[in-house]
Amino acid sequence: MKVLVPVKRVIDYNVKVRVKADGSGVDLANVKMAMNPFDEIAVEEAIRLKEAGIATEVVAVSCGAANCQETLRTAMALGADRAILVEADVELQPLAVAKLLKALVEKEAPQLVILGKQAIDDDANQTGQMLAALLGWPQATFASKVVVADGRATVTREIDGGLETLELPLPAVITTDLRLNEPRYATLPNIMKAKKKPLDNVKPADLGVDVAPRLTTLKVVEPPRRQAGVKVADVAELVAKLKNEAKVI
Ligand code: AMP
Repeated sequence: MKVLVPVKRVIDYNVKVRVKADGSGVDLANVKMAMNPFDEIAVEEAIRLKEAGIATEVVAVSCGAANCQETLRTAMALGADRAILVEADVELQPLAVAKLLKALVEKEAPQLVILGKQAIDDDANQTGQMLAALLGWPQATFASKVVVADGRATVTREIDGGLETLELPLPAVITTDLRLNEPRYATLPNIMKAKKKPLDNVKPADLGVDVAPRLTTLKVVEPPRRQAGVKVADVAELVAKLKNEAKVI
């Protein structure tokens, strides 16, 4: 069974994001980039399926600029067998990525596609759902446990107030939640080995996909700054302020 894992290159989650002065987006100049954390979890899950003898091949895919190759090398250092870069210099919105992934699925014929539940840069939470819809495949989003056996995936999802368990016939699309697993670190020997693993390069036109953006970003603004607090002398003063100034009690 082949598993396809789409991985997105995003601003590292430790970086404090700065909005550009003209409000057109966030500043990416000289900013540390990394694999989207939910995609690390997706790669880890695919590798565990391979280690368990269920998956035979793990293929990582990234859509974006040439430097997404770094993210793909990381996926291969973690254990992916090979990688595909869909190289595009334009902004790729979730629908465009879903269409590119659909074209790759038709070429590669995986039984399972494991994506992150959302990318921490655009927070769209759309690509996996759109891909499943375009393919007409069953989907289980926000997976916190995945068991694959006998041509079916049994997926536990965290929902408000409890857990939901779904059974899906393969092929299927799964998106990962934070508690699915704890991704491993890439070891130095594996980072070296990853440099020799195959990395194919295709263009959206090779896949026959129009990636033109459908949405326009009007503006991006920083959240309002928090006001400075005040110290109160005692509980009586606190209660008086809550009653008379904040008017919350
Ligand atoms: P989003 O819908 O943008 O929140 O992204 C959800 C998931 O789709 C991510 O966690 C990735 O697995 C996948 N994805 C989104 N954009 C890309 C991209 N440009 N290249 C590869 N995978 C992507």
